[in-house]
Amino acid sequence: MTFFNKKSETFLYEYLNNTSPTGFESEGQKLWLRYLKPYIDEWHLDNYGTAYAVINPGKKYKVVIEGHADEISWFVNYISDKGYISVIRNGGSDHLIAPSMRVTIHTEKGPVKGVFGWPAIHTRNGKEAEITPNMDNIFIDVGANDKKDVEAMGIHPGCVITYDDGLTMINNTYYTGRALDNRIGGFCIAEVARLLKEQKKKLPFTLYIVNSVQEEIGLKGAEMIANTIMPDIAIITDVCHDTNTPLVTTKKKVTWHVAKDLY
Ligand SMILES: [Zn+2]
Repeated sequence: MTFFNKKSETFLYEYLNNTSPTGFESEGQKLWLRYLKPYIDEWHLDNYGTAYAVINPGKKYKVVIEGHADEISWFVNYISDKGYISVIRNGGSDHLIAPSMRVTIHTEKGPVKGVFGWPAIHTRNGKEAEITPNMDNIFIDVGANDKKDVEAMGIHPGCVITYDDGLTMINNTYYTGRALDNRIGGFCIAEVARLLKEQKKKLPFTLYIVNSVQEEIGLKGAEMIANTIMPDIAIITDVCHDTNTPLVTTKKKVTWHVAKDLY
C-alpha cells in the first residue's frame, strides 16, 4: 500500500525546487505551511522564521516531529576588478563540486544567473593540469565586463547564492536534486499531518510539526524552538550518507565531524 498521492508529489517538487538558503527560509516556509493548513488545528511562526503546526492543541503531553527548512548555499564574499565573484560558505557547501555548477545569486533587484567557472582542460598544462578546486580559486562568472557591471546587477558581498538544479527521479525509484537535506524530512512530517487527517486519527497528545530554520550553521532554529515548545519527546528527521557508493571508506566510521570541519 502506498500513501504517496499526486497532490503529495506535486508539493514535493514545488517544495524541493524552491530555494531556502539558511537565513532566507521564508518562501519555503510559506509553501510548507500552505500544504499543511488543511490538515492542522493551528500554525505559528517564531521570530526567527521557524514554522510549526499543531494538531490536537492543549494536551499536557507534547510530541514534536521535526525537519529543517534550510539548505546549504554560498555568500558573495568578494568581487574582482574583472567582475569575477569569490564566495564563502553558508553551511557546509562543498568547494570540490562547485566548478561548472549553475547558480542563482539572490539580490534586491531579483535573481541573477551565473556559473562557477573553471579553466578549460586545454589551458591547463604541467602542474596546472591537476589543479583542484579550493576556497581561494573557485569563482562565479555572471557574464559581467568588470566589477561595476556586477554591482549594477545588484550583486554585493553578502548576497546569497544557490545552485539551480531541481528535483528529478532516476530509475523510477530514487530522487536526486538540490537540498534533499532536509526538505525531504520537511515533506515527510507534512505527510504525517495529511495522513492523520485523512485517516481520522485521534491523538492522546498534542503533536507539534516543526520546520526549523538555521540547522546548517549549527542547529540554531531547533535549539530556539525547543525552548518555546518544551516538548516531552522530539523525533528529528534528517538525511544520512549512502556508504555503498564508490570512494567511501567504510572501514573507518564516517561521522558528522567531517562536515563540522568545513565551517
Ligand atoms: Zn540536514
